[in-house]
Amino acid sequence: MKKITIANIPGDGIGKEVVPAATEVLNTIAAIHGGLKFEFTEFPWSCEYYLEHNQMMPDDGMERLQDFDGIFLGAVGNIKLVPDHVSLWGLLIKIRREFEQVINIRPAKVMKGVKSPLANAKDFDLIIVRENSEGEYSEIGGKIYRGEDELAIQNAVFSRKGTERAMQHAFHLASKRKKRVTSATKSNGITYSMPFWDSVFEDVSKGHPEISTDSQHIDALSAFFVTHPERFDVIVASNLFGDILSDLGAGIMGSIGIAPSANINVNGKYPSMFEPVHGSAPDIVGKGIANPIGQIWTAKMMLDHFGEEELGNTLLDVIESVTGDGFLTADLGGKHSTKEVTDEIINELKKID
Ligand code: ATP
Ligand code: MG
Repeated sequence: MKKITIANIPGDGIGKEVVPAATEVLNTIAAIHGGLKFEFTEFPWSCEYYLEHNQMMPDDGMERLQDFDGIFLGAVGNIKLVPDHVSLWGLLIKIRREFEQVINIRPAKVMKGVKSPLANAKDFDLIIVRENSEGEYSEIGGKIYRGEDELAIQNAVFSRKGTERAMQHAFHLASKRKKRVTSATKSNGITYSMPFWDSVFEDVSKGHPEISTDSQHIDALSAFFVTHPERFDVIVASNLFGDILSDLGAGIMGSIGIAPSANINVNGKYPSMFEPVHGSAPDIVGKGIANPIGQIWTAKMMLDHFGEEELGNTLLDVIESVTGDGFLTADLGGKHSTKEVTDEIINELKKID
C-alpha cells in the first residue's frame, strides 16, 4: 500500500467548503486504485484561528507540517477579520518561503462545457511554470533624492541555480505532455538578465533533446496566447512574466473558480503545497455554490506530483465530462451546487471502477 500523508488546511471562507469536497474525491480515487491511501490531518489555521490565538498558526506550526508529504490548502484571508498582510504572511507566504517552494505551476485549460472569452478556446491547454523566488520581485533596490529628482531603483535578480531549477521542472512536465517547452523572454529589451535567462535555457535544452523548444518575447507570447494557443504546451517564465501569464490563463479559462496551482519544493527537503488560485470568496461563502473544480483540479496536480499521473489524468477527464454534461456552478453560468458537482464527479469516478 502506497501511503501519502497530507496536511489539510481548509483556511477561510469557501476553503472550508471546497477542501472537504476535494478530499472526498481523493479518497474515492484512492479506493479505485486499491493500492493507494491518502492520510489526511486537518489543521484549523485561518483568520478565525488568529482571532483566538493572535497568530495564524501556532509557534511550532512549521515543524508540524514539515514531515507531511504534501500540504493541501483551501484559501487564506478574511479582510473583515484580519488585514491581508497579516493573514497571508502569517500562513500562506510563510509556508511558501520557509519550505522553499521556489516554483509555482499553473495549468490553464478551457474545459468542455465552459464558456471562455476566447473564440478558439478549445485549443487552450497549457501549463505555466513560474520561477517564484527571485527575478523581478527582489527586495534589492532603493529610493533616493526628493522632488523632481526623485528616483527609485529595483534590481532584478537571476541566479543560474534559480533559473535552471524552474527550467528543469518545465522540461520534466513537458516530457509527460506534448513535449514542447516555450521560454518567455525579453532579451531584445532587457539587456543583462534576459540574455542570461536565454543562455541558461539553451544549456538546459541540450540535456533534453527529445523536447522541442522555442523562445518568445513576452509581448509577442502574450498575443500568441490569445491568437494561437495551440502552439503552447509548457511555458517557463520569470517571476513577473509568469505572474502575468498565469492570470491571463485563468481569465481565458472562464472562471477563477476552476484554476489550480502548485507551489513546488524542488529539493525534496520540505513538502510542496497545492492550492486553488481563487481566494476565500467572502461574497458567496455559506451559500453552497462555490465551484469545487479549482480545488479538485488542484487534487489532480497532487496526484501527478506523487507519481500517479494516470489517476490524475483520469480525474481531469472525469471533471471535463461532468462540466461537458452541464454540471456547472453559478460562476460558470450554471445552477448546480458545490455538492451536486462534487457528487457527480464522484459518481462518474465510481463508474470507472
Ligand atoms: P481573497 O482576499 O481571499 O483573495 P478575493 O475577494 O480577493 O479574496 P476571490 O476570493 O478569489 O478573491 O474572489 C474573487 C471573485 O471570484 C469573487 O466574486 C468570488 O465570489 C469569485 N470566486 C472565487 N472563487 C470562486 C469559486 N470557487 N466559485 C465561485 N466563485 C468564486
Ligand atoms: Mg485576492
